[in-house]
Amino acid sequence: MDSQKLEHFRHLLIQQLHQHTEFIREDQAAALELSDDGVKDTVDLSLMDVNKEIALRLGERSSQMVADIDQALLRIKEGSYGQCAHCGELIEERRLEAVPTARYDAVCQAALERANGTDENSTL
Ligand SMILES: [Zn+2]
Repeated sequence: MDSQKLEHFRHLLIQQLHQHTEFIREDQAAALELSDDGVKDTVDLSLMDVNKEIALRLGERSSQMVADIDQALLRIKEGSYGQCAHCGELIEERRLEAVPTARYDAVCQAALERANGTDENSTL
C-alpha cells in the first residue's frame, strides 16, 4: 500500500479514535452520575444499578474499539497495515474503507467467525 493511501486510512482511524474517546468520556460521566446517590428508595436503587451496568458495558465496548484502532495505527507504523493477519493476503481496500480496523480479509474473517461460533462481530 502506498504512503498516500496509508495516510488516508490513518486519518480515518484517528477520526474514529476521536469519536470513540468522546463516547467513552460521556459514558464514564454517565456512570459516575448514576453512582452519585441522591436516591434512597430500593426500587430506584436497583434500577440505577441496571443503568450503571449498561453504561459500564458500553464503556467496555468502546474500549475494545479504541484498542482495535490503536492496533491498526500500530500496523500502519510497522508497515503491516492492510495485510490479513491470518493468511497474509492484502485486504480489499473497499473493506478497509468500511472497516479501517479490519485485521483479516473477508474470507478469513468469515472462517474465523464460523470457528468461534459467534456472529458478535458481524457488524464490522
Ligand atoms: Zn486472510
